[in-house]
Amino acid sequence: MKYIALLGSTGSIGRQALEVTDWFPEEFSLIALAAHSNVDLLAQQVKKYQPQVAVIYDEDRYLDLKEQLPFFKGEILTGMEGLIAAATLAQADLVLTAVSGVIGLQPTLQAIAAGKDIALANKETLVAGGSLVMPLAKENGVKILPVDSEHSAVFQCLEAGERIEKILLTASGGPFRTYPREEMKFITPAMALKHPTWQMGPKITVDSATMMNKGLEVIEARWLFDIPFEDITVVVHPQSVIHSMVQYQDGSILGHLGKTDMKIPIQYALTYPRRWRNDLERLDFGKLKEITFAEPDLNKFPCLKLAYEAGQAGGTYPAVLNGANEVLVQKFLHGEIGFMDIPRRIEGILKKHEMIQKPTLDDLLTSDRWAREMLEEVQ
Ligand code: NDP
Ligand code: MG
Repeated sequence: MKYIALLGSTGSIGRQALEVTDWFPEEFSLIALAAHSNVDLLAQQVKKYQPQVAVIYDEDRYLDLKEQLPFFKGEILTGMEGLIAAATLAQADLVLTAVSGVIGLQPTLQAIAAGKDIALANKETLVAGGSLVMPLAKENGVKILPVDSEHSAVFQCLEAGERIEKILLTASGGPFRTYPREEMKFITPAMALKHPTWQMGPKITVDSATMMNKGLEVIEARWLFDIPFEDITVVVHPQSVIHSMVQYQDGSILGHLGKTDMKIPIQYALTYPRRWRNDLERLDFGKLKEITFAEPDLNKFPCLKLAYEAGQAGGTYPAVLNGANEVLVQKFLHGEIGFMDIPRRIEGILKKHEMIQKPTLDDLLTSDRWAREMLEEVQ
C-alpha cells in the first residue's frame, strides 16, 4: 500500500489523480486531501476516502466544511499550517502537489525535508524555488517525479548514465498559434480558456494561451534534469502526439508518444518505476492524419522569451516572473487587463527588480510578494 497526501484534490489534476487511484484501490490510500475553498467537492472526497487530514486553506470555509462532515474522524486544518501538516504526515510515502501557484513551494520543501517522495504537478514551485527544491531533494534522497506531461515524457526517455545533448519540449502552441499578431490585444478570457488539446484549470489554460506555460516548463526542465537553458528547445507541435523528446550525443532522439490524457503521466508518477495496466484509450496511428512542427513565434508570444531570459538570469528573477504572472493572469481573467498586457507588465516588473543571486526561501517569498505589489506601480 502506498500512502498519498494530495494537495489540490479538487482541481483538474487532483480529480484526475483520484480517478487513477480509484483504479487501484488495493495499492493506494489517500491519507490527506487539501483544497483552497471548494468545500462541497472536498467534503464529498473526504467522505469517500476518509483521510487522516482534510485541509481547507481558506479559514472562512472551515465551519462550512466541518458542518458537512459530522461523522469525520480525522482532523480538519486550514491555511499554510494545514498544507504543511498534510505534506509531512508521518504515514505519507508520497506527496502529490497539484495546487496551482507558488503557494505549493513551502509545503513541498517541508515534505522533502520530511523524506517524502514528491509527485510534482505544481510547476510554479520549481520555477520560483528550483534552486532550493532540487538540492534539498538530493540531500534527503527524495525522488521528484514529474507529473507535467512534457517532463514526464522526458523522464521516461532518460537513459541511465547517458549525457543529454538537448531536451526538445513540445508545445501545442495554444489557441492563438495562427491568430494575427495585431488582433491579439483583443483576446478575451472566454477565448483564452478554450484550449485545443488539453482540459486544464483556468490559470494554466491562460498560461498556455500566452505560452508562458511553456516558458515555465523550460525553467522546470532546467531544474528537474539539471540542463542548461541553451540545451532546452521548444518545438511547436499542434497535435500534441509527441509529449517531448530527448536528444543524445550520437544524434539519437527518443520521444514519448500517446493520447493527450494527463492520467497517463499522473499514473506513471504514482507507480514509478513500474508501469501498470489501465484501460485508457490508445493512440491510433491509422487515424492520425499528420503531425507537424514549427518554431515558436517569440514576437507573438513574448512570455516565452521573458521566461527564458528570467531563467537564464537566475536568482530571484524566475520567482518575480512567476509572481507577476500569477497576478496578471487573475487580472486578465477578471477582465481588468488585456491579453498582451500580461507580457508587457511582466517585462516592466523584471526591469525594476534587483536580483538576489543565491536566494534563501525568505528571499524568494519576499521577491514573489514584491512582484505582486509592484504591479500597482508598473501599469
Ligand atoms: P486547478 O485550478 O484546476 O486546481 C487547483 C487546485 O489547487 C484546486 O484543488 C484548488 O482548490 C487547489 N488550491 C489552490 N490554492 C490552494 C491553496 N492555497 N491551498 C490548498 N489548495 C489550493 O489547477 P490544475 O489542476 O489545472 O493545475 C494544478 C497544477 O498542476 C498547476 O501548477 C498546473 O500548472 C499544473 N499542471 C496542470 C495540468 C493540467 O492538465 N491541469 C498539466 C500540467 C501541469 P479549490 O478547488 O478549492 O480552489
Ligand atoms: Mg505541460
